[in-house]
Parts: sequence; structure tokens; C-alpha cells
Amino acid sequence: MTTKTTQPVQGMSDLGPPEIHIWQEIEQTTRRIMALYGFEEVRTPIAEYTQVFTRSIGDTTDVVQKEMYTFEDRGGRQLSLRPEGTAGVMRYVAGFGPDAAGLRLYYVGPMFRCERPQAGRRRQFHQLGIEAIGAPNPAADVEAIALQQHVFAEIGLKGLTVEVNTRGLPDDRAAVAKGLASALKPHLGALCEDCRRRYETNILRILDCKQQTCGEIVKSLPPVTDFMCDESRRYLDEVLRLLGRLEIAVKVNPLLVRGLDYYVHTVWETRHPALGAQDALSGGGRYRIDLGSAAVEGVGFAAGIERLVTALAHDASGGARRSGHVPIWIVSHGARALEENMVLAQALRMRGVVCGIDLAGRSMKAQMREANKASAGCVVIRGDLEIEKGIVVLKNMKDGAQEELDLPEAIERLVSAGRVEVLKS
Ligand code: AMP
Repeated sequence: MTTKTTQPVQGMSDLGPPEIHIWQEIEQTTRRIMALYGFEEVRTPIAEYTQVFTRSIGDTTDVVQKEMYTFEDRGGRQLSLRPEGTAGVMRYVAGFGPDAAGLRLYYVGPMFRCERPQAGRRRQFHQLGIEAIGAPNPAADVEAIALQQHVFAEIGLKGLTVEVNTRGLPDDRAAVAKGLASALKPHLGALCEDCRRRYETNILRILDCKQQTCGEIVKSLPPVTDFMCDESRRYLDEVLRLLGRLEIAVKVNPLLVRGLDYYVHTVWETRHPALGAQDALSGGGRYRIDLGSAAVEGVGFAAGIERLVTALAHDASGGARRSGHVPIWIVSHGARALEENMVLAQALRMRGVVCGIDLAGRSMKAQMREANKASAGCVVIRGDLEIEKGIVVLKNMKDGAQEELDLPEAIERLVSAGRVEVLKS
């Protein structure tokens, strides 16, 4: 097969202006809100020993069975690119031993899943997420949902729905599987091929099958909470009560299971109507992950940044909200002026002023076009003639007014104008 080396790998994308500005805004907002809740950033490697994922995500999940990029390193060890953030953070957290309890961590970064590329499903995508380490506690689950909603609201998202359910306790699993098996048995022949396999290996996953015929069958099943113990049901009730106290609207979806094996008690997913078939903005839940030598418990969520961007573009009626705005643009005429203006640009930038300058010696017309493109509020015009006269021309781009100043005066004016611009942005 031939490959186009000017294109990124299928299902992966370059990110540049103007879209990058929305990404930066999302990341900055995320960091600000995380700090309000006392969460600190963790950066784990993008590759781990494959076992780190198989032991925590679960051998029978689609992510592990079909979607991981797995390869051997030079020493013959199996590595995988991370398909999600939790497993790596758990490996990191395990190193803290009993001191891990109470850790509040967040991450932002790329994830990799070798899925069939389609709208909303990328092979490299980005997530922002949190992990709050600690024993089961409905209040901690509710705080995680509150934090997620706070981030989404600050980013500017509207019209999303949070669906909540419970996976119950690990001891409920056998009863849930048994209950579902007997309820599904009469329909076995009508299930899709994947679900017939899931009936044997991971029956719960039948509940979130995307095939229409399976969906119809699943709707007729009793809710999974019917097969759970009182403690699990009480935990969910408490989560819902506390969400009410914080005035966070959620919808209970008894069919929500989430794809991964490590969940206990609360699970949730957030949906947005702009996302079409792949409508999940985020997924989260409480987990108990067995790491061989230790088990780590906590609650967390991960949101797909590509999907946040899509949903935002929809909410803001399309388009990037901010492009590369440069408040001051320096226009030169002549070789000597270009050099002097480079010195001026450096002096302004060293004092915190964002300014643009054309270094290629293009025509003044072309330079003015650049200034307009960057929506500059003020243009500095300084050619060889102005250098000789020791003046600088400042042009106000709003009303076209021009004035002549000497250089130190002009610098002071530009520094204060530039600061005001920075404060405004
Ligand atoms: P998951 O753990 O699979 O529920 O993923 C959490 C979130 O990551 C989802 O709700 C999506 O927003 C995002 N996500 C997962 N897989 C992909 C993908 N292949 N492409 C883009 N976003 C994804």
C-alpha cells in the first residue's frame, strides 16, 4: 500500500491555527477549574507495558482486544500506546502505597485507539480527565461530576445531558450476570454476533450494544439494580440525593454500563446533541483496580477534547471564537528601517507587548494586508525616511488617524497600548 507522506496517519490530525486557539482556551480553563478543586496535574508516558492496560482495563474489553497499538521494544518487551489515561495514572499512583489515598490528579493529553476511523472516532484523540483516589464515598463521586460540569460550563458548553447509573459492588457481578443471562436467553438467536460472544464473555456489554435489534431487546430487560444488593442501591440513591443538593441535573439510565471492567458503583456519561452517533462527550465512574501487588480505588472521568471542540462550535454557531490577533504591527520601508524595526520589535516584546513584523522585506501594501489580517489596532510605520528624521508614525487602524512621535515616546505609548490589549484578551 502506498502512503502519502504529506498527510498525517489516518485517523490522526495536525492541529494549528485558528483551531488551536480553542484548544488552548479549553486547556487553560481546565487548569484553572482543576486548581479551584485542589487537583494537580500528572503527566504519564504515552506508552506503557501492555500489561498495565490488560490488568486494569480488562482482557475482554474492545479497547484491549481490538484497539490497542501494541509493539515490541528492542528488548522484546510488549508495549502499547495508551488508549486511555486511567491505567497509567493507576500505575503511577500505586507507587505511593497507602499514601495514595487522597491524591487528586488531572491529566490532559493524547490517547491512541486503532479504531475504524469514522466521524467522531479518531485513532489519536485527546482527553482531559481526573482521578480522585480514595475509598467509595458518594460525596466524592458527586464532587467529580460537579467538577466535570463546572469545566464544561466554563468552557461555554450548553445543552448537554449527564446520564448516571451504578455498576454495583464486585459481589453483585455474578448475580447481575445471572439475572441478565436468564432474561436474555429467550432472545439469544436475535442478538448480533458480537453480543452472542459477549453473552459468554462479558454479558453486561450487551446493554450498550449499538445494533438496533440488540437495543430493542435490551430495552425490555429489567434494570440491573434489580439484581444488586441493598448497599449498592443505597449508594446510588445517596449519589442522586447529593447531586440534587448541588443542583446538578442528571438522568438515570439503567442501561448505562461503560465499556471497562474496573468500575464499581457510580458510572456516568455526558452526551451532546451536536455529536451525532458518537455522542459521548465524557465518561466517568468509580473504579477498583487490582494491580497485582495492590488495589487502587478512586473516581474519575475523561472527556474527549475533539468532541468538546465540535460541541462548542455547534453551541457558538460555528467557527473558531478567537484567531491569531496581534494588537500592534510594525511596517518597514527600506533595508535600514527593517533592521531598526527589528530592534524596536525586540524591545517591545521584551516589555511584554505582542507585536508583528514582516522580516521578508515585502511591499508596504503587503505588510498592511498582514496587519489587517491580524486585526492590529495600531500600525507602526517606520521607513528609512522616518529613521533619518528620528520619528515614528503610529496609525490608529480604527479611525485611520496618524501621528508622528519620537522613538522613546512611541515606545511608551505602544507599551501601554499593548498592556491594555493583553488585559482585554
Ligand atoms: P471512553 O473512556 O471510551 O468512554 O472515552 C472517554 C471520552 O473520550 C469519550 O466520551 C469521548 O469523548 C472520547 N473518545 C473516546 N474514544 C475516542 C475516539 N476514538 N475518538 C475521539 N474521541 C474519543
